[in-house]
Amino acid sequence: MTDMVSNDQGALDEAIQRICAQFGDDYWLARDTDGEFPEQFVAAIASGGWLGIAMPEAHGGAGLGVTEAALMMRRIAQSGGGFAAASSVHINIFGPQPIVKFGTAEQQARMLPPLISGEDRSCFGVTEPNAGLDTGAIETRAEWNGSDYVVNGQKHWTSVAQRANKIMLLARTAPRDASAKGTDGLSLFYTDLDRAHVEIHEIAKMGRKAVDSNALFIDDLKVPREDLIGEEGQGFRCILHGLNPERILIGAEAIGLGRAALAKATQYARERHVFGRPIGQNQAIQHPLAEAWAEMEAADLMIFKAARLYDAGKPCGAEANAGKYLAAEAAHKACERAVLTLGGMGYAREYHVERYLRESYIARIAPVSREMILNFIAERVLELPRSY
Ligand SMILES: Cc1cc2nc3c(=O)[nH]c(=O)nc-3n(C[C@H](O)[C@H](O)[C@H](O)COP(=O)(O)OP(=O)(O)OC[C@H]3O[C@@H](n4cnc5c(N)ncnc54)[C@H](O)[C@@H]3O)c2cc1C
Repeated sequence: MTDMVSNDQGALDEAIQRICAQFGDDYWLARDTDGEFPEQFVAAIASGGWLGIAMPEAHGGAGLGVTEAALMMRRIAQSGGGFAAASSVHINIFGPQPIVKFGTAEQQARMLPPLISGEDRSCFGVTEPNAGLDTGAIETRAEWNGSDYVVNGQKHWTSVAQRANKIMLLARTAPRDASAKGTDGLSLFYTDLDRAHVEIHEIAKMGRKAVDSNALFIDDLKVPREDLIGEEGQGFRCILHGLNPERILIGAEAIGLGRAALAKATQYARERHVFGRPIGQNQAIQHPLAEAWAEMEAADLMIFKAARLYDAGKPCGAEANAGKYLAAEAAHKACERAVLTLGGMGYAREYHVERYLRESYIARIAPVSREMILNFIAERVLELPRSY
């Protein structure tokens, strides 16, 4: 199967594949067992300059598009690293987009180079326990005391906070009822994750053990005005700019994971003999795998359609949401079929597909759920009444 990519994009894909080949399935299984953050992998990606793939050249990035970033993330997940590998670098790739788009020249020069080199590691604090997908309902407050913003509140599910020294933080700077829309009055900050004022508790979770997710308790965290990104009260709009690229990248990561599962399943189906023939000779084994392939390829087309639209500066909300939805569902199905194809061995950790299946849920839940994507498409594409 040939990808419709340019020579340069093909070379990029091969370069990432060469880095990932140093960290095979056994490396990722070990990280899934011991829960250690994949520092060597991140260092290898950073030393190749790849963290800056979609960052401006003026600040040390490669100045490439979301299309190239998606190719890279798909390859990282496909290497067997799945979401553990992808999530270890994901936020550095898409997270700084609001700084690129809304940051001042001073902020870009100060904030972007250390993110690109890997010296700074950021986490992304949006989700809160009492707000969920209703971002306008977040309760974390940032109050101006005459010299600084003082932040108090809670964040939930903040990934990589155990190791991050920076946080991209969304907080309320004006009461919800003072604004026309619930998402007005929110402000975005990129600032130090000062552990003297932020308690960080890891959440034990189903998969992706190597990349922590956390509950954050923020108590009088001082944030200087120069760490406010964009205008005060316009934080949600700043975040929105990065949402479509994030959906595109998560979708591409899901496809990579699904492809890894399918490769394991088809190899096993060729090699495993029962009743005197390879199990892959049975249509009951073949057809679900063929179906998974077809569905993942279709989802991949939608993901890269969204990426091309984004890179061309065109609206891509419908395609980015649909692509992420289709990719997550197709990848999950591929992972489940892989487990079933391997039978008992599908349940054994050493065959890796159970790890892939556990990780495949992430793309179905985060950063936006299947239901909210369908709500969005129903309302914005099909012009049906808003249901939420
Ligand atoms: C592994 C992992 C890593 C994460 N990392 C981060 C991170 O780094 N930073 C961060 O900010 N967040 C992160 N998240 C949080 C993630 O973005 C949220 O879990 C996700 O947005 C869903 O929000 P919620 O869990 O609060 O679900 P809820 O909002 O509580 O929703 C629960 C369920 O109800 C459904 N639902 C709610 N309202 C409606 C409606 N109106 N119509 C139909 N269905 C509805 C949802 O679709 C969902 O199925 C992470 C989550 C996971 C699992």
